[in-house]
Amino acid sequence: MSPHKNKYTPFIYFSGLAVITLGIYILLFGLLLASNIIDAASVAPLPMAIDAAVCFVFIGLSFFLTLKNNRKAFAIACLLNIMVIIVSVLALLHHFSGVYFLFTLGMSPVTAVTFIVTVIGLFFLNKTKSLFNQCTFHAVTFLASVVLIGHLLKIPEFYHLSFTPMSIYSAAAFFILSIAASLVNQEIGITGIFTGSGIGNIMARRLFLYMVFAIFIVGWIRLLVHRKNLVGVELGIALYALSFCLISLALISLVSKTLNTINTKANIATENFRLMVEAAPYALIMTDRLGTILEINPSAELVFGYKKEELTGKNVRVLVPKNMRGTWIKNRNKFFEEPLISPYGFNDEIYALKKNKQQFPIEIILTPIKSRDGYRILSFVIDITERKASEALINKQITELQQKNEELEQFNYISSHDLQEPLRTVANYIMMLEEDYPDQVTGEVKEHLGAINSAVTRMSRLVRSLLEFGKLGRDRVMSAIDTGILLKEVTDDLQALIKANGATVAAKGEFPTLYAYDTELRQLFQNLINNAIKFKKEGIAPHITVTGSAIDGYYRFEVADNGIGIAPEHSAKIFNIFQRLNKSEKYEGYGIGLANCKKIAEMHGGRIWVESVPGKGSTFIFTILKFKA
Ligand code: ADP
Repeated sequence: MSPHKNKYTPFIYFSGLAVITLGIYILLFGLLLASNIIDAASVAPLPMAIDAAVCFVFIGLSFFLTLKNNRKAFAIACLLNIMVIIVSVLALLHHFSGVYFLFTLGMSPVTAVTFIVTVIGLFFLNKTKSLFNQCTFHAVTFLASVVLIGHLLKIPEFYHLSFTPMSIYSAAAFFILSIAASLVNQEIGITGIFTGSGIGNIMARRLFLYMVFAIFIVGWIRLLVHRKNLVGVELGIALYALSFCLISLALISLVSKTLNTINTKANIATENFRLMVEAAPYALIMTDRLGTILEINPSAELVFGYKKEELTGKNVRVLVPKNMRGTWIKNRNKFFEEPLISPYGFNDEIYALKKNKQQFPIEIILTPIKSRDGYRILSFVIDITERKASEALINKQITELQQKNEELEQFNYISSHDLQEPLRTVANYIMMLEEDYPDQVTGEVKEHLGAINSAVTRMSRLVRSLLEFGKLGRDRVMSAIDTGILLKEVTDDLQALIKANGATVAAKGEFPTLYAYDTELRQLFQNLINNAIKFKKEGIAPHITVTGSAIDGYYRFEVADNGIGIAPEHSAKIFNIFQRLNKSEKYEGYGIGLANCKKIAEMHGGRIWVESVPGKGSTFIFTILKFKA
């Protein structure tokens, strides 16, 4: 691909191709004429000399090869150029000496000179980007334009240029080729005036095209009027001047209107940009490559405590604390190695310096802005002092909460553990009383002792479940668990209960392998299935469906039953410890199962809730965070 790629590249290639095609066309035409395949009398004579046609093919090829910009291609291009020069020089020699040489086939001397100038231009096309070289193409364009105008307006002086005339085809080919070649280094010379993006360039582009067209038409009319002798010379010139003045006025007013519209749009855009920058809630600082501050916005004045005048022109270093300058320089260099939008301070801690020498934490985004004189940096600075302070407060509170929680767990563990001892003693004494005094422990006394015993047993169970609740999640280790297998094992464990109640347990959906606490997750499924069987409707076999699915960032499991259901007002409190809705003998329990389930779901970064229609059934739903391995 050409290293000169710009928006004119398609035109450049098209022009090269057009010149080669023209040369080949003339050669074929000449060949057909020479071999009498077409009759010279019935067609117009050859419009271009054969040697000129060959040179156009050569110069077109040489142009393509030069564009390739590699050594081999350039060497071939040089060879072609030399051949063009030889043919052109021989044509000139023939013209001035009258001697016929091998390759002279009628090329006009003006064409020969134009070829030589074009070849010089092409030779230096990649070597120097000089104005002088660009001028060789401009000269060719000018010469070709004169000849073209001469042909179009039928003014022989223009195309003869006091020699054998250059053909209109050659002029057109030189015109298009020289413009294409000058567009390769589009920013240089007159080409630069027309291709630039400035307002002057836009004006030049529009005005020049209209002007050339208008001058050409008016000139043509003037000539027509003159040739037909419609008006006298003086009136003709006066009318010509007048119409030219009017056309110029019309064109200038048209172009000035366009320019004014462009200018207004540019002004509005600039004003909008200024307002945006001024209203931005972030401190904005624009610096050049060396770090010199060019612009700051009012938020930057507020954040850093400087006035705009105090900072502009200073190096941005004044806003960097001394101990951070090393990191700052490193970051800057890294940024210039690859100037992309780069955030700093989001993962690491960086600080800036206020006018009063106070340091404060910031987040900063550096944005490269390419301007005509190189890169500029637009920095968005966010003062995160307040956020850091609240983060620190939250962290402190979290640590305190963790400590309190640990203390509570410890207390729960110790007290429930210690409570077992007196309960055991009471139970032992009841047993001893029954054994040692069988005669006295009868009737009402025996009944009372029995009631005390069952109360003690119940209390002991309660204390044990409290102990287990406290122990939940201690010494926990996460592992990969196949939830399909886990569910099967849980239902196997509950087989006796399932059979006794004539229950069915069906699994639906996906049961993935996920990272979780094995014992706890097992207990969660077990509690929910157990409850689904336990809280069955009188005389109806429990039918339980366990469904697994993956949702955004979580796994979701549902345990649905056709049991007694739960009234909506109770759906939250059943997850609290020791909360039971059905205290009758029929539904045994301590009200700790769902509290355990809640704790387990939360340990897994998820939550648990129930959706239920009383009398129809309940669906317990819990989620588990998708932990990474
Ligand atoms: P327990 O089962 O020991 O009573 P849980 O914490 O497991 O304690 O349940 C709390 C209460 O929630 C139960 O007493 C019961 O009233 C209600 N409950 C739990 N699961 C279901 C269910 N599948 N259907 C209806 N009610 C239920």
